[in-house]
Amino acid sequence: MESVKRSTSNTATPPGEAGMRGYDAQTGLDRREFLGSFLGALFFWRRRATRKLAGIEFRRLRHDDANRRYLLIHGNEQTARAVLTAHMRTAKGTAWLVENATRNVSFRGGELDPNRMFSREGAERNLRKLDPDWSEAQILNGLTVLDRSRHQILDAVLPKRGDVLIAVHNNTEYSVNDELANSNRVALNDRENPHEFCLATDAGDFDLLSRGTYNVVLQNRPTGPEDGSLSRYAARSGFRYVNIECAMGNAAKQRAILEWVDGTLPRT
Ligand SMILES: [Zn+2]
Repeated sequence: MESVKRSTSNTATPPGEAGMRGYDAQTGLDRREFLGSFLGALFFWRRRATRKLAGIEFRRLRHDDANRRYLLIHGNEQTARAVLTAHMRTAKGTAWLVENATRNVSFRGGELDPNRMFSREGAERNLRKLDPDWSEAQILNGLTVLDRSRHQILDAVLPKRGDVLIAVHNNTEYSVNDELANSNRVALNDRENPHEFCLATDAGDFDLLSRGTYNVVLQNRPTGPEDGSLSRYAARSGFRYVNIECAMGNAAKQRAILEWVDGTLPRT
């Protein structure tokens, strides 16, 4: 859309488009500044193809070079997808959104939950559950492939210079109550809405978030079974990670929590 406007701008231009025509005549530096604006960001994003990470298709939405990272990893969680996509019009950082439309992705003729692949142990449990007809050799080969490729996702989503990775998820039955036993600290500030909560892996982030009005749990040394999820990987490897969980369909609350978390946690 933008390029069409530009290509016709040297013909008679309505007064309202004078600013656009002025931009056309400007230098490359001004063009980069223009790309930082809302319209420019849309134009920028459209040129970005999707990218395969560990065999899984992701779309990257980048809004300047900030260190913060954002992630949608379950493709069926459409409320989170819409909220994060809208958030990235103004939020500074890089978001990765899985292109898949279902929770699980296709993997070597079977299925894999992409948020269960961040440890060999968790991936094995997940493959045995989702692909019960696989032979031992198929399981072993699948795990070897994941051992060689999961770094592609991690390299993309790991926040730079100590900043935070904010992941967005939606649930139907799952709630903060399912995480209480696995958590190291808990702030149930909104008990009446257990489906809406944040899970942090950094004690400093937990301290900041627990002063707000939402439910927050800290899992910097999580207990319970290793499930291969990204939050456990973050706790193990020591990077700051916050997951924002909301009931499927509750876009207003997820938008509010995402904006609040993003504004509350310090940037690096
Ligand atoms: Zn999810």
